[in-house]
Amino acid sequence: MRELLKYRDSEQAIYGAFQYLWSLWTKQKGKDAITKEDLDPLDAQIHHVKPFSKGGSNNLENLILVSSKTHYLIHHGKDLDKRFEKYRKHLK
Ligand SMILES: [Zn+2]
Repeated sequence: MRELLKYRDSEQAIYGAFQYLWSLWTKQKGKDAITKEDLDPLDAQIHHVKPFSKGGSNNLENLILVSSKTHYLIHHGKDLDKRFEKYRKHLK
């Protein structure tokens, strides 16, 4: 979130962040972009579709709102699969 804040003044920064959230919220009609389930506004998180570290921008077109659970699975889902595979080997 910090990278979204382009204003030095903290009140302006908060307002800028709010505008981002509100724009995404209305665009997605309050739904999780992946699961399409209703989002809890206090649980909603911003995800970069193309990662910021790989040159993805902070433009709204590259951002989606998802629940914290969806966000965790986007970033760690493959790790969970691997851990589950290890566990399955012990079952044999
Ligand atoms: Zn993310």
